[in-house]
Amino acid sequence: MKNEKAKVFFSKDIEKILEQIDFSKLGKKVAIKVHFGEKGCNTYINPALVKKVFEKIRSLGKEATLVECNVLYKGSRTNSADHLKTAREHGFDMPIDILDGEFGKDLVEIKGCKIGKGIENFDSLLVLSHFKGHMHAGFGGALKNLGMGLGSRAGKLDMHSMLRPSIDQEKCVGCGVCVKNCNAEAIFLELGKAKIDQEKCEGCAMCISVCESGAASVPWGGGTPERLQKKIAEYSSAILSRFPGAIFINVLEKITPQCDCMGISQKPMMEDVGILFSDDIVAIDRASLNVANKFSDGQFAKINSIDKDKQIDFAAELGIGNVSYELVEL
Ligand code: SF4
Ligand code: SF4
Repeated sequence: MKNEKAKVFFSKDIEKILEQIDFSKLGKKVAIKVHFGEKGCNTYINPALVKKVFEKIRSLGKEATLVECNVLYKGSRTNSADHLKTAREHGFDMPIDILDGEFGKDLVEIKGCKIGKGIENFDSLLVLSHFKGHMHAGFGGALKNLGMGLGSRAGKLDMHSMLRPSIDQEKCVGCGVCVKNCNAEAIFLELGKAKIDQEKCEGCAMCISVCESGAASVPWGGGTPERLQKKIAEYSSAILSRFPGAIFINVLEKITPQCDCMGISQKPMMEDVGILFSDDIVAIDRASLNVANKFSDGQFAKINSIDKDKQIDFAAELGIGNVSYELVEL
């Protein structure tokens, strides 16, 4: 673990943040990791802000590409063609590379983690994250955007493999929407109620996402969110072993209780906070959590009933960053 305090810069103005970043440490081919938001989500990262970062890198004579991997569950980002279409519809008009191939099968193993293979085509990394809650990991910041996001399909399965939703039979109205949306064909209707075949379930959480009755949920308390948090840290560590000079920007705007993977419109929990930048992935997520908690009068810490500090602590234990930081307001 690093001993010195990490610097985290904070501003409401992306131009001030960009002035602060030492882009000279980036190589010629820069991957910008972005989450484009599921179709139906309207609180994903602002594409105009992403464009400013993209243009800045290009103005320095470097190649910049937005990168992402496909998702596990059935949705608008399950394969590369749909994923690209969604990204374009959401206003991301820059070059995009879906790193794990057409159906999420192309991978490279780095330290035992199954990462989208296309990452090998880049020599530098900038992780540009929309900060918000996450139903499994507690929150989604730089660690989740990078570690879970750049996992190939097999990697994401590995990360989620211990998460198994269950159906509250009282709440289930038997609409069958979850059955239609389960890629693993793990859900069936019995006497007008949904049931999950736990042997077939892949833990993708799509049923939770589509159930409007709130009947599908993950039974917390068995330590499974911790395993996911640990996996996110491990995957982040593996990727950063290839990109030691990575840059992290967290955008604390439209902070919602759930992730941008949810294809629904969510109400932000608090006013827009601003933008944070650091070259330390642990410090930026630690600072983002603290700031979000402060702006929400402690409400952000309570959402999803998950200990959010653990994701950060696991990453710090792996030595990829520092929980101690100095917040520098620009
Ligand atoms: S979507 Fe929800 S309410 Fe509909 S069948 Fe599935 S669990 Fe039941
Ligand atoms: S039952 Fe399992 S595999 Fe099917 S949608 Fe739910 S979490 Fe995914």
